[in-house]
Amino acid sequence: MQYFVNVILPIPLEKLFTYSISEQEAQFLKQGMRIAVPFGKTKIYTALVYEIHNTPPTVYEAKEIHQIIDEEPIVNAVQLQLWLWIAEYYMCTIGEVFRGAVPGAFLLESETLILKNEDTTVDDVNLKDDEFLVFEALQHQSILRVQEISAILDKKNTLPVLNRLLKKNIISLKEEVYERYKPKMERYVQLGKAYQSEEELKNLLDTLNRAPKQRKVILSLFQLQAVTKESVKVSVLIKESESSSAVIKTLIDKNVLEEKHVRTDRVIYNCDKENIAVKPLNTYQEEAFKAIKENFKENKTTLLHGVTSSGKTEVYVKLIADVIKTGKQALYLLPEIALTTQLIVRLQDYFGEQVAVYHSKYSIQERVEVWNNVLSNKLKAQIVIGARSSLFLPFSNLGLIIVDEEHESSFKQYDPAPRYHARDAAIVLANLHKSNILLGSATPSVESFYNVKIGKYGYASIKRRYGNVLMPTIELVDIKEQHRKKRMQGHFSERLLEEIREALSIGEQVILFQNRRGYAPIVECTTCGHVTQCPNCDVSLTYHEHRKKLRCHYCSYQMAIQQSCLACGNATLDTKGFGTEQIEKELNELFPDNNIGRMDLDTTRGKYGYEKLINAFEKQELDILVGTQMLTKGLDFRNVSLVGVMNADTLLNFPDFRAHEKTFQLLTQVAGRAGRTNKRGKVLIQSFNPYHQILKQVSTGDFATMFKEQIYDREQYKYPPANRIVKITFKHKDYNKINEASFWFAKSLKNVFGENVLGPEQPPVARVRNQYIRNIIVKIPKQQHLLKTKNSIKRIEKSFNTISHYKGVRVIYNVDYI
Ligand code: ADP
Ligand code: ZN
Repeated sequence: MQYFVNVILPIPLEKLFTYSISEQEAQFLKQGMRIAVPFGKTKIYTALVYEIHNTPPTVYEAKEIHQIIDEEPIVNAVQLQLWLWIAEYYMCTIGEVFRGAVPGAFLLESETLILKNEDTTVDDVNLKDDEFLVFEALQHQSILRVQEISAILDKKNTLPVLNRLLKKNIISLKEEVYERYKPKMERYVQLGKAYQSEEELKNLLDTLNRAPKQRKVILSLFQLQAVTKESVKVSVLIKESESSSAVIKTLIDKNVLEEKHVRTDRVIYNCDKENIAVKPLNTYQEEAFKAIKENFKENKTTLLHGVTSSGKTEVYVKLIADVIKTGKQALYLLPEIALTTQLIVRLQDYFGEQVAVYHSKYSIQERVEVWNNVLSNKLKAQIVIGARSSLFLPFSNLGLIIVDEEHESSFKQYDPAPRYHARDAAIVLANLHKSNILLGSATPSVESFYNVKIGKYGYASIKRRYGNVLMPTIELVDIKEQHRKKRMQGHFSERLLEEIREALSIGEQVILFQNRRGYAPIVECTTCGHVTQCPNCDVSLTYHEHRKKLRCHYCSYQMAIQQSCLACGNATLDTKGFGTEQIEKELNELFPDNNIGRMDLDTTRGKYGYEKLINAFEKQELDILVGTQMLTKGLDFRNVSLVGVMNADTLLNFPDFRAHEKTFQLLTQVAGRAGRTNKRGKVLIQSFNPYHQILKQVSTGDFATMFKEQIYDREQYKYPPANRIVKITFKHKDYNKINEASFWFAKSLKNVFGENVLGPEQPPVARVRNQYIRNIIVKIPKQQHLLKTKNSIKRIEKSFNTISHYKGVRVIYNVDYI
């Protein structure tokens, strides 16, 4: 009898690949274990066992596997079901899901030379084009060989680029074939067996009278053991006895001390404190809690719609406390890593070391540790907080998922595949585990609220802020009128200035929101009209005054600001539009006696940049904080009484069918930062178009009308939630080729789906890093079969791929999102 194994390779293959194995291997291997396999002419990959069988492949001869890596599965059956769903729903391969789902350390490959340095946070704005290409390729493949990099960059000599990347700590080189995850070991010592009795001990101390250093070590060891009653860490012992490793070594050599190595976990908790009791809920929270529990009885996905600062988090805490009592695991998903920092502290107060954290800023080793703790259902990983990738952890017994700020678009992954939405995938995961799931938000997404309306989701709400603090008043300020009457000072209306002065005069703080960084997005010549553009992207360069530079926000490009126009030579350059930098500058002129801070991508780059600003503002070292949407999310400042929105119009004009919904959410969330304590807060929104219905709805907190109008539009134009969409993106560096290719594709689609195909269209920025971009949108009306539609699209892609002229054109799918 012959034996075969079908494996998932971590590369975009349509099918599972088959290898031949021996009978013993067949008996040993289980689904979810890793094995090393040869692939292609020279490559070796880490593959995941899917199934074992006796049928040889028909079109190729099965090769033998190289080696078995695991003794036990590292991935369970439920996870594989989730992967299959993601691959099918988001139109990618299971290999891509495998690569995206497990820590990079699980995927090591052979003959590898270059890999991404996971410990470095890379800001791709600082990368040159060729550096970016290598960096990007390493997102898709954890390891690259030098030859492959030559092919990617289309040049022979790649060493200069690699040297630069090495210097920047972005890549590392490696020669060894296999590196397994090595747990960190700590050295411990205890007294040797021969010295356990009191008499022997006395003798020992007597003999050591002539070796005072060694004697001191033994005495310190006693003291330390009196506390721990166990062996003592060598590092601690050295410190306590003020000795050295040489002295310890002598004692070990003499068998006075015995050493042992103990595995320690890298993720350290600071949990000496007692856990505090869960807070009693107020009546509104209690009602919501009961409604949630009712829905959970039927295992219904439930939406908690609670205004900002209503105490949703305390409700989550109570639900978590209940579920872990039953021995089940809980997962708390957050859209942003920055938010996890605040929440960890809050949850650890209640649950101590049962809380684990998992996200991409963690090192490879830390991620492997959390993975293993969840896999073996350890106590210290009963509650996992994390960004979207924590969905892929090997839960065996999940009882509750919380998706906080469920409306946030950062739950959607855009690059690389799998391009999944973590909220939606979490709902599937919950179903697979028969676990409960709660979505929470002050501004629910149209999708989720729609699902409540049609009875698919349960609903609970909290309409009041905790402690009965009033919702802030929201005032719309017409800046068109102000401009006409020449009443504006810079970008500030009279009303806004008046309110800022008032707040500052009584020692209160102010937040100002402008959703654009830099000084100005456009530098234009007033003589000839020339606008300075990025040479690599179809977008104007943004002026950053602080560095006196023009920068592209899409690629690495930057140049010094010039004195005169590059086209006509006249020194008549002017800026158009404004960003946070300009507001900061105007504030410094308008309020010279106050401290102004700015929070955007440029001021929060360093590892602690974000925390530093938040701390300074919390301690009231800053009076006014200007920022981009970073400011809007979940932050809780106690002394902010005024929030100003500098310009609401750019948000509304964004080319996305969700632009109005997103504006409503963003503005409501920003407004929620005002007046979180006793005094009622105030929000001023400046706009050229204050009569816009969305701004009205924000100002009156009218979620219901916003929802009704948005749903009407979406139904009308066949957009989600009732309908589905697939966006197909094409990328290539040849302008003509991308046009022809996307037209061909669109035509084939139109043959099948007719007018439900839009495009090909140029996105607002139609070329990025010298790659031209085209989009096609396929609308899928609700009565049309979703899977069949996706399959026909895939079939068209297959024919497309056989056309040699279109070779090299990348085809990217985004499902539900544009
Ligand atoms: P949300 O998550 O809805 O924005 P939070 O959970 O952050 O609101 O609650 C807002 C504030 O009210 C927090 O400072 C929180 O500690 C406090 N709070 C909420 N519920 C309670 C409660 N039941 N008992 C005591 N304090 C509470
Ligand atoms: Zn650019």
